[in-house]
Amino acid sequence: MSDQQPEPIQDGDPHQALGSQVEALYALVQSLFREKVARDLLDAFETAFSALPDDAARAEVVGYWLDFYRLQRYKLLRQRRRPKFQERLKACSACGYPTSQRHHLWDVATHGENKVTIQLCANCHELHHLIYNALVRQSEYSRKLVLHALFSGRISRETGVRILGWCLATIRYEAGNGWIIPGSDRREWVEERLHWSEFLKIQDAKEGGA
Ligand SMILES: [Zn+2]
Ligand SMILES: [Zn+2]
Repeated sequence: MSDQQPEPIQDGDPHQALGSQVEALYALVQSLFREKVARDLLDAFETAFSALPDDAARAEVVGYWLDFYRLQRYKLLRQRRRPKFQERLKACSACGYPTSQRHHLWDVATHGENKVTIQLCANCHELHHLIYNALVRQSEYSRKLVLHALFSGRISRETGVRILGWCLATIRYEAGNGWIIPGSDRREWVEERLHWSEFLKIQDAKEGGA
């Protein structure tokens, strides 16, 4: 596998990607807080952001802030609209664990509450978000956690394949609408980021030998 110069973006400008991340962060903070509070938060962000040496460092920081405020929003939405008890009793669609949470394949911020959801247990839900971040946002932090999980021997082939499949479907949908730069779903990129064929090989050997 080639591990030099990650090149997920074939026909996009990385500055543009960073720019749209910053825009997304602004919109998110402004949607979560009243004007004065939002302004203070964004001032603090701008100060930290402008002190950084390069775009890679900036991308990392924007990614961190986006994660943080998306989680805030997720908690807020959960408060407003409690999932039905019957919903929580559905088994995880990825691994079969008996209780689950609702994951929106279509982002609630963009689409509002919608029915394009899957039920995932807490672990598969986290893994789904981590894989997305590792592929789309190029987060090293997320990528290391994904690799740790995939190669722990605790994720079955079937579970991994399902979660990656949903991630790629979301990525294609978002790229098709021009919300993210295309290319994060490329086979070579998935291979480079997640060492996917190695994961499959290990699982196959395990299942074959069982
Ligand atoms: Zn699960
Ligand atoms: Zn989710």
